[in-house]
Formats: sequence, structure tokens, C-alpha cells
Amino acid sequence: MKVVKFGGSSLASATQLQKVFQIVKEDPTRKFVVVSAPGKRSADDIKVTDLLISYYNRYLNNENTEAIIKKIVNRYEGILDELSIKKDVLVDIQQAIQQLSTLQRENNPHLFDAFLASGEDNNAKLVAAFFSQNGLKATYKNPLDLGLIVSDEPGNARILASSHNKINQHKNTDEVLVIPGFFGYTEQGDICTFSRGGSDITGSIVAAGVEAEIYENFTDVNGIFVAHPGVIHEPRTIEELTYREMRELAYAGFAVLHDEALMPAYRANIPVVIKNTNNPQCKGTLITTSRKVKHEPVVGIASDQGFASIYISKYLMNRELGFGRRLLQIFEELGLSYEHMPSGIDDISIILRERQLSQDIEEELLERMTLELKPDELRITHGLSMLMVVGEGMRQRIGVMADSTSALAKNNINLEMINQGSSEVSIMFGIREEQEEKAIQALYETFFNN
Ligand code: ASP
Repeated sequence: MKVVKFGGSSLASATQLQKVFQIVKEDPTRKFVVVSAPGKRSADDIKVTDLLISYYNRYLNNENTEAIIKKIVNRYEGILDELSIKKDVLVDIQQAIQQLSTLQRENNPHLFDAFLASGEDNNAKLVAAFFSQNGLKATYKNPLDLGLIVSDEPGNARILASSHNKINQHKNTDEVLVIPGFFGYTEQGDICTFSRGGSDITGSIVAAGVEAEIYENFTDVNGIFVAHPGVIHEPRTIEELTYREMRELAYAGFAVLHDEALMPAYRANIPVVIKNTNNPQCKGTLITTSRKVKHEPVVGIASDQGFASIYISKYLMNRELGFGRRLLQIFEELGLSYEHMPSGIDDISIILRERQLSQDIEEELLERMTLELKPDELRITHGLSMLMVVGEGMRQRIGVMADSTSALAKNNINLEMINQGSSEVSIMFGIREEQEEKAIQALYETFFNN
């Protein structure tokens, strides 16, 4: 059986919901349907989750909430009307949204999560009612009844291992279970959400729990592109990639799936497919444990901006016992996490996200490094972009590095850093942010367009 998850744009309007219904109906093995809250209908629209944040802020500040409640209810009502769904669901939804403003306001660490979660919770009720009314045996299933128990970390919940067996008990359901994404319940019975975009995580957890044959994640693109469509005109989509390749691409900005969403499916060895609600015939992109590497060593090119690099050089660094530990201790004590650490014999670079560096922190960091490590040279470079060439195939193919560097050199792109991960799934280049687009285009030409 399959677990399907639909994102906010797939549930934003009645037209979209009709498509969702067809998709679920045409395959009787699609038994678990995880839904997001209604998303944007157009570029300048507001997601229901974001409306709920406004509602929460107003409530917290003791401001009038009537207008915002109306706006939220209207989003559901518009969809219900167009689909001619019976009015009792609307009454239910209206009450649930209204009731949020009766929750304890002070000293309530779960209040924000309760507001946010209601976006998906009410949508699951709506979707279940729509399916049932159209002859599909479907029920709304609350995460508590499903057994989705999470850690008590508001806004950043983690699944608890005990959930697995509880969810597993639902695997032989004969009706379609419509499950709200994005949140679970703590052992004390409080609502806790995952981080933003977390309905993807719910889908993956449910897929692992019920041992699904596949986790289908429906969104609004035909699959994962080999490079960013904002930089490359109509890039190809990737047919198949491994979890590891996906992880590397996601790291550098491929944001189709939530970062944490792959883990539960990966551990349970369940393939994930990214599909398009607006074009369900399209095969989409399949993510699996292993794939047959065909001719191409590279599956995708990604990049992400906002990095800084700190370069330290000291003669005989390689023999100085404890140098690395003392260096990283300074980072740890300043609360800085680093991303990469390429090193040579007498030098080392630490790459980190520069949003962590306020002026004060940066000054303190450099001062402490100078005092405690006594380097011969120490410098910091801002405004770097990490460019990643990703593909399991490069392990068996000589020349990916050479092809990449020569393409970049031909385009006058200066390499500030090169790092090939130990796993040999990716090669990373640190370049200046201004050269990022040109670099992606050069690599795309080399690996995908000849
Ligand atoms: N609705 C939530 C958000 O906007 C969760 C999700 O859509 O996955 O973050």
C-alpha cells in the first residue's frame, strides 16, 4: 500500500482538490493521505499557516481577532462551497478556529503550535468529508489516534521510537485515512509541530510506520530538476537518485522536500517519489537506496550562498598536538557550528554560514584564534557560495573533477576552495557569490548539455 502526501499548493482550491481526489481514487492502494494546510492560490496569496501566525500574534497581544478569524474560515468556506460539501464540516472548522482563542495565553509553550497545527488539522477534516461525499470510503485520522507521538520540543518536534508500532497497527485499514501533516502529540498530550514545511516529515513517518511500498509526495513540479530553473532555462528533471544524492542536493538549496523528511523512509528502506498533482501521469523523481548508474556520473548541480571561510595557516601545524581540538573549541564556545573543514599540511579552512557571525562574534572569534592558536596567517572571506556537483557515479568515473574545474576555469571562475567529501558522492567548490550563476551554467553545459 502507498502513503501519499499533498502539499499546500495541491490543496489551495477546489480545482486542486478535484485533482487530488482523482489521484487517490484511481489507485486503491493509496490508503494513507497526508495533507498540508491550504497553500497559496497565486504568487501574492497568503498560506493558511501564515494567516494562523497573524491570528496567534493578535491573540497574544490581546488585539481584536474577529477579522483574521473570518479570513481563515473564509479560505475553508470558499473551498467547501465550490465543492458543495455539507455545511456541518464548516461548522466544525469554524468552531475549531474560534476555540484557539480560548486556549491559555500565558505560560503556554504549546500555544503557537496549537494555532499552526490547526491549518492542517481542519484541512484533513475537509478533505475526508469531500472524499466521503464523493463515494470514497475515507475518514479523518487525528495524529493522536494514529499514534504519532513526538518529543516535547515546540516548533521542532522529533518522532519518538514508540510511535512506530502504534502507527503500524493501522496498516490494514480498509478505508482511506486522511491525516493532517506537520504535527504530533507529546506523551503528555500536547500538540507539537515539526519545523516549517513539516508535513513532508509526517508522510515519511507514516510510510515507515505502515511499511508502505512507496511514499508518494505530490507537489507542483514534475520532479527534481538537475539544476535550479531560475538559472537554467527548462532544466531536465532527474529520473532517479539515491537518498545520499538527495541529501547533498538538499543541503545546497534543492528545497523540494523538507530536510528531515527522508530519514524515516530511508531507515525503513521505503522509496520516495516526488510527483506533480497537476501532471500525475509524469513519472516524477524516484529516490531510493541505490540506483543503477547509467552513463552520467552526475545527477545534479546545486549551490547555496551565504558562507564565510576562515583560513588559518601555521608552520608545522600537522605536528602540533591538539591544534584542531583547540580550534573547534573556540567555535563551540562561541556557539558557532561549522559546515566544512578542508585542510592541508600547515593550513586549514573552516567554512560556516555567515548569518551566525555578528560583528561582535566575528571580532571575538578572530581575537581568540589569534591569542590561543598563534597562527602565522589568519583571514576571513565573506560572500562565498558553495557549488556542489553531485552523483554516486563519480566514484566509478575518473575525470569528473577535471571536467568540472576545466569548465569553471574556461569561464574565469576563481575557486576559493575545493572539497571532495569522503563519501565521493559530491564535489564542492567555494566560489564568489557573484560568479554563482555563471558557474552553474558552465557545469550544466558540461554534464547535461552535450
Ligand atoms: N503548513 C505548514 C507550513 O507552511 C507545514 C507544511 O506545509 O508542510 O510550514
